[in-house]
Amino acid sequence: MKESILTGRESCFACPIRCKRQVQVVGGIYATRPEYGGPEYETIASFGSLCCIDDLKAISKAHELCQAYGLDTISTGVAIAFAMECYENGILARKDTDGLEISFGSKASMLTMIERIARREGFGGILAEG
Ligand code: SF4
Repeated sequence: MKESILTGRESCFACPIRCKRQVQVVGGIYATRPEYGGPEYETIASFGSLCCIDDLKAISKAHELCQAYGLDTISTGVAIAFAMECYENGILARKDTDGLEISFGSKASMLTMIERIARREGFGGILAEG
């Protein structure tokens, strides 16, 4: 992250840990704004490792969407990863996911599901329950 999208770090008052990351992705479909901060450990784990997504820009976009909607990034990412696990094992099919192919590594599905969870649309309404 330091070599690509990290632009700085912020902190709550007087905290020596300074966990808040600031990132900026310029241009493209994953463009982000620095005001939303950036993904830290748990966010990268939930939207990255658990969803089999290794694109920091897409993960940063997922983080930004969660910040904009007021969603917890850990809960949201884990819920989507669980849906991907179910989809991969045939427990869920397109008919259950409003036609979305929620397979591991699908950045488009991950971002779409964040929107649908936030708006409680269709299958997103189920995942919104956690
Ligand atoms: S660890 Fe992070 S969230 Fe917690 S007080 Fe420090 S800067 Fe704030």
